[in-house]
Order: sequence, then structure tokens, then C-alpha cells
Amino acid sequence: MQNARTQKFKSTCSYCGVGCGVIVEKNAKGQIKVTGDESHPSNKGMLCSKGMNLHYTVADQSDRLLYPEMRWARNQPRRRVDWDTALERASAVFGTFIDKHGPDSVGFYVSGQCLTEEYYTVNKLAKGFVGTNNIDTNSRLCMSSAVAGYKKTLGEDSVPISYEDIELANCFFIAGANPAWCHPIIFRRIEAHKEKHPDVKVIVADPRKTQSCSIADLHLQLNPGTDTTLFQAIARCLIEDGRIDESFVEDHTDGFDELKMQVMAQPLREAAKICGLKVQEIKQAARWIGDANGYISMWAMGLNQSVDGTEKNLALINLSLITGQIGKPGAGPFSLTGQPNAMGGREVGGMASLLSAHRDLSNPAHRREVADRWGVSSVPAEPGYTATEMFDALRSGAMKAIWIICTNPVVSMPHSAIVEEALEEARFVVVQDISQNSETTDYADLLLPAAGYLEKEGTMTNSERRISYLNKVVDPPGEALPDAEILCRFARKMGYSGFDFEDAAAIFSEHCKLTEGTNIDISGLSYEYLKQNGTVQWPFLNESEEGTRRLFTDHQFYTPNGRAQIHTRGEKRPERPGEDHPFVLTTGRIRDQWHTMTRTGKVSRLNQHIEQPYVEIHPKDAKEYGIRDGEVVQVSNDRGEVRLNASFSDGIKRGMLFIPMHWGKVLQKDYPRANNLTSDRIDPVSKEPDFKYSSVAITKFKKE
Ligand code: SF4
Repeated sequence: MQNARTQKFKSTCSYCGVGCGVIVEKNAKGQIKVTGDESHPSNKGMLCSKGMNLHYTVADQSDRLLYPEMRWARNQPRRRVDWDTALERASAVFGTFIDKHGPDSVGFYVSGQCLTEEYYTVNKLAKGFVGTNNIDTNSRLCMSSAVAGYKKTLGEDSVPISYEDIELANCFFIAGANPAWCHPIIFRRIEAHKEKHPDVKVIVADPRKTQSCSIADLHLQLNPGTDTTLFQAIARCLIEDGRIDESFVEDHTDGFDELKMQVMAQPLREAAKICGLKVQEIKQAARWIGDANGYISMWAMGLNQSVDGTEKNLALINLSLITGQIGKPGAGPFSLTGQPNAMGGREVGGMASLLSAHRDLSNPAHRREVADRWGVSSVPAEPGYTATEMFDALRSGAMKAIWIICTNPVVSMPHSAIVEEALEEARFVVVQDISQNSETTDYADLLLPAAGYLEKEGTMTNSERRISYLNKVVDPPGEALPDAEILCRFARKMGYSGFDFEDAAAIFSEHCKLTEGTNIDISGLSYEYLKQNGTVQWPFLNESEEGTRRLFTDHQFYTPNGRAQIHTRGEKRPERPGEDHPFVLTTGRIRDQWHTMTRTGKVSRLNQHIEQPYVEIHPKDAKEYGIRDGEVVQVSNDRGEVRLNASFSDGIKRGMLFIPMHWGKVLQKDYPRANNLTSDRIDPVSKEPDFKYSSVAITKFKKE
């Protein structure tokens, strides 16, 4: 796709999990322009504000890290070194810790923004060669409860539907998600579908009246943390009113009787009271779900980021199972992936609890298979430290060294103070990033410059299992290298074999071969195929097709007995607001920013949407505390405090506060971090932290 002066490349937006296709034009001066790819099935040419401004983040090199930097002691400044010196040091330090304290004394913390090839390389390096499962990712902070939910119900981490099912559904239940701001192109597809078909019903469950409520026929403004109670109450109505698919339940599921017994034990009036809803609202939701020809549930962080995240997922997926709304057009439980390649990371097994190609880490035969393919004696059986556990292990001294790739945990992890403490306690911190000036780079003993978006080739998989190829368009600045190449060079310094890949295509090819015979089989896939034919959805079993649009059409699930598993709820574990901290704080994203703003924070057009961090509060609550709209307030708890402007909204439940999660150090300024306050408690199954329910107090800010 090129002429003499302007070259055109296909790529994929590197922000959210929608995975929109883009066309990148590079002119003779090297200037970049990004537009939506009309041939891409996910977005059909549409882009949201973040995607439309992607080129600014590529053009802005002001904060780029250009050379490796190293320091010999914590109290010394880092100095520029060459790659050889940097990686010699890394291998000497990691090698020493591994020899002295064992392989679990080191760990790798990566990102859902890494390309699949990068995820594959670091996973192989850690699990196959270092000999530790201490490889986890910031996807743990957004997706792991959904992974656990799918595995427990469907047998594997498998999104059953495609975006094209949106246009085939007539009832949507959007729970704990704000796609209007966080997955805008999916939202636009629902909006357009509803405009064409006004009888399509949209139900939104959220304690806040978000932008997504603009198309809602019913907004269930439930009390925070009561999602499972709501879903179970809906299940009760469906059962009571005979709106379930009895033959599907009978033929293809286990566990219905236990669920029925549990949901019938809670009177609807009681459930409604717990949720802060009217009985009629719950009944209405159940009627629309039960009467739908095509019912899709969609959820994201509002359910996942919770100490009960797995249970919330299970209770929502139950609604699809008892109504038989799965494995057919326009139907299924659809977890909205937060990051652009969280799905690709899980395909390669790039988490502490996973194994390559959706194999089971606890299965000795699966571990043997992977070890044989990698040419190593074994893969460790015990799950490694997950995201929060890794930082706890650094604090306790159980882990000595951490290698952080493409993520900024000092701002994005819960309870920032203990993350900072962990990085201070760590004996050796490697940070591999495009930026030289994030909160996390401050802690680096070794800072390695990575190539950024459009500066390397690779693949990503979006929310609908769609694998896209991303072209390299420009050279990385200075001495920056693609992440996979840095890891391969390090592995070779460590003396490990199997890291002499010729290029990214060779890494992808090794990953594809490892999927052979699994439920995500893409063993027939290659860069050539993707370049020539566009995107494919896994599993990709026949080269003449675009992969698999819909899973479980034969109602055979990936569980040992082939039946979907319906689950009941266990014990509840919410943090309760108390007298000292009477408000429930929830955090989340805003429309035009991405994560910790290391890229979007540089784009003035995006900064214009909302310029400063703020705390959203109901005006009646504010009045009780004598707080005026826009004035500086202090929000605090035992974990920390932040000072920021109050912003009135009658769209938030009383007793709740909302702070956007993005701000930290942006453009050299220090802003208050929401995560100074968030709880580091985690879901016991998914190990995902709870960013949605922290007890806090709010007061007017008084200058001392
Ligand atoms: Fe990028 Fe997501 Fe916006 Fe699409 S919806 S353009 S993937 S940020």
C-alpha cells in the first residue's frame, strides 16, 4: 500500500481492547497520519477520540528514553551505558539472585499493551529458562476475574461471541462497564443498532449514571458491591416466571438445582433493598432478558475489579446459561477487554497462573508438553506471584529483583504507598519503557529504552479473539529496541538457548505452533497470511476462512464433561464503610485518557476534555459536609490522602465518591493519585484487586 511519496500501512489502535483497525500514512517528510480502517471488521472505519489522536503520541518524542541508563548504587544518579554493559549487569544480578536464592527470587511484571511476541518471549524466558512462574501483568488488574469466570463456567478463558453479534441481539445488559467512554466503538455499534431497531432493549447496571446510560431503557442504579445480589434476583425472576430455557439447562449445564435453591431462598424484596432498587426494576430487567431472541451481557472493571470479582462474573454468566443464550447468533456473555492485547497475553500464558495456549498449569501432562516444545527439563508447577503479590514479595524480601515492562505500577497499582515501599525495598529494579520520566522509572536501577507503537512489528488480539498484524512504520529513536529483542538479548547473556529468533515473525511462528491441538489453535497462521488476508479470530483451523466467529455453537463446552457449569455464590467479602470513613470510593477511566497518561497526557486535544483530576460527589452529600462545587477537598483513609476539586453530580449514588484513575506525574507536574486510597485486597480466586470499593472520608481542605 504505497506510492512514491506517501506510504500506507495497516495497524491496530494501541489503546483499548476493542482493537480498531487503523490506516497509517507516512509522507515523504516522515509525518504520520492515522485514520480508521474501513475494511477492518471491528470498527469499519470508525475511531474514537483517543484513536483519532494516535499520531500525536508517535510524533511527540519529548519524553522518550533514548539510551540504556544504569546506576551502581541507589544513592547515585543513573548514567548512560551501552546495551552490552546494561544487559551484562542485568544478567549478572539476576544470575546471582537465582543462584543464591532460587528462581522465585526474581520476577517479571509486564503489560496488556505488550505485543503477543513480547508476551511470548518473556513468558518462555521466565517459565522455561529462569524456572519461575513469577511473570504477571497489569491485565491482572483488569481481566483476571473474567478469566476465572469463563474458566469456571465454560471450561476455558473463551469469549464466545463476535462484535457482529451486536447487530443480531435485541437485549443488552451492560453491567459494571461504561463502554461509551471506555470501549467507544463497541458502544457506537450498539447505539447505531438501537437507532435502527428501537425495540432493542438496553439495561445498564451501575451505581453511577454514566454516559452509557444515554441509550439505556433501564438504568439499575444499584448500591456499590451488590451486583451478585442483583444478578441472582434476576435469576430468581427468570425462574419464577418460567423464562428459562429448560431443555438447554437440562442437556448442557450442571448446577441449576443448587442455583435455584439459593436464589429462591432470598426474597425479591430483600434483594431489592440490598441493591437499593425497586422490585419492579429487577422484574423488568428479567422480563427483557427472558423474552430476548438474542441476549448479550457485557461487563468490564465494575465487576472484575472487586474482592468478589469472580463471583460477580459467575452470577452474570449464569443468566446467559439458564436462558440458553450462548452459542447462537446475537447471544452470549461478553467480557469487554480493557487493554489492546490482554487477550494475546493470555493466549501465550503470560500470567503467573497460566500456561501457554490455554493449557492448565496444574496439569503435569500440559507442563511436560510445553517444556518439551521449549527444550527444557520442566516448567514449574506452582503458580507464581501475581501482580499485588509480586510487590508484597519485594517488600518482604522474598523477591529480590523485578523487571517491569511497559507499565507504570506506581500509579496504576492499588495502595500506591506499598508499591513505592516495595520498589524501595527491592534489591534491583529494571524498567523497560518508552518514557524516561514516569513515576516508576524513578525507581529503576537499570532503565532500558523500548521501541513504541508503530516502531516495531507484531500482533495483538482484541476482545473478540481477533488477531491483527501491526506494521512497523518508523524507526525507534536513539538506541531504543523492540521489547522482544531486549528480552532475547538478555536471555542469550544468561546463556539460555532458544532465543535466537531471526525476527518477530519467527517468535509468532513458534507461538502458533505451540497452540496446535488446543482450543485456541492458530498453528496454521503466519505473518504472511495476516498481511495478505487481514485479521482472523481464533481458533483458526482452516486457512480459507477468517477463523471462528462464534464458540460453542454445538453446545459442547470446554469443561471435562462438556457441560457448562452454573455456580452459586459463596461468602461475601466487601470492605464496609465505617464511622471514620463513611464514603465508598470507586475509581475508573474518563473518555479521553488512557491508563496513567504517559501517552494521552501529552495530547492537548485529549487534555481539553477534562483537564484536572476531580472527585465526583452527590450534591446532597456535599451539602451535608459543607462542600461547594469546584472547591478543594481532601479525601483520605488509613492508606493515604489526596487533595483535589469536588465536582457535583446527581448521577452518582449518595454515599459514593468517584475519582478518575489516570493522574500521577504528568508533564512534570505531580497530581493526586486515586490509588493512594484504593484497597489492595484481592479476589481470592482471580487475585484481582478491588479498585471499586474503598472506604474513605471527605473533608473541606483547610490550609494549615
Ligand atoms: Fe482505539 Fe479503543 Fe478507541 Fe478503538 S475504541 S479507537 S481501539 S481507544
